[in-house]
Amino acid sequence: MIITDYCKCVLHRENQKLGFTKVVLSRRDFIFTLAFTVSKWGFSSPLFAATKPFKPIHVVLPPKPKQIHYKEGAKKGGGLLIIGGIHGNEPGAYKAVDILSRIKLKQGKLVLIPRSNFTSILANMRGYNGDMNRKFAFIKKNDPDYPWVSWLKKHILQQKVDAVLSLHDGAGFHLRNKSAWGECIVIDEVAYQGWPLYRIAYWVINQVNRHVFSPLHKFAIYNTHTFSSHTKHAEQRKSLTFFTLTQAHKPAFCLEVSKQLPSLSLKVMYHLSMLKYFFKIYQIETDPPLDMLISHIDEYLVSKPCFTLALRVNDIPVQIYSDKTLTVPAKAELKIEEVKAKEGVFITPQGVNLNWTKFRVYNKLTLEVKYDFQTLAKIKFKVV
Ligand SMILES: [Zn+2]
Repeated sequence: MIITDYCKCVLHRENQKLGFTKVVLSRRDFIFTLAFTVSKWGFSSPLFAATKPFKPIHVVLPPKPKQIHYKEGAKKGGGLLIIGGIHGNEPGAYKAVDILSRIKLKQGKLVLIPRSNFTSILANMRGYNGDMNRKFAFIKKNDPDYPWVSWLKKHILQQKVDAVLSLHDGAGFHLRNKSAWGECIVIDEVAYQGWPLYRIAYWVINQVNRHVFSPLHKFAIYNTHTFSSHTKHAEQRKSLTFFTLTQAHKPAFCLEVSKQLPSLSLKVMYHLSMLKYFFKIYQIETDPPLDMLISHIDEYLVSKPCFTLALRVNDIPVQIYSDKTLTVPAKAELKIEEVKAKEGVFITPQGVNLNWTKFRVYNKLTLEVKYDFQTLAKIKFKVV
């Protein structure tokens, strides 16, 4: 596995140098890749050694954390499982759930998964490994998303909650364009197993629409009729909400704000506004109240959190707090042990597949310390 990862890494680096966007195995790449493979198995070659400096460092990264929060108020109420970030380029969704994870409850119960697709969030891509929201009917075991989708399914099936909400930032404004996914609540059918999905969504959007900042921002209901044989959205049968309805036998809704809203603050505010009315239906009361969060939203959106990166170079401990350039000896073992910071802060190696936790690189490496989509610092390693 390391050889495969290593070879891809070399090809990626070489192609980046050459300005290619796709990995194309040129003759030179092939020879060099073969050279490494041969060297790895113990056959030395002066010819190969002469064509490329041979100074790999071996890098080990920690696994990405799977974060889940349980909140319960003193007073009995209903329960909701709220999932954010299944699409990694929708920060309004995962920041809203992240804010909820930092407050208390007076009544009811919340199970919160802010960053359900952390690799895609760090890459700021809809799906780094393809669309995760199309993997709930079937996923191959060798899919890099497999551990995450299995983990989500387990919680959807096992958590004792009354409904599941999946938060998104969709494109456009549904009231203007019926095929746009922004500014709406998505339901799979008017009702399912006696749950009045449409009636609940209708009440929520009517309450929220009384307080939107512009008529353009008004919310609508997008019924995908997923169960109908005439649906235009058969692909929704592979989604998280369809899995929740049919396998976990719980009501499910997708809450969508628009990607085209002018600020992250506004996206988070509208998510919290929809949640406020879901919380009224399911008898959940937060402390502080959601109105307070909404009116002070910028104080809850942390812009540049501090971090401590704990690593070992050839077993020697090093701690890093900001931009830094380090020199490391050739063939060094570089082990990133821990990123001490608030949730959402993690490291990504530049030019390396973000699914990998072990790989080798030549001559230099840059690790970006990221807070979700935002770069906090760059740690550069030069091999000497
Ligand atoms: Zn989405």
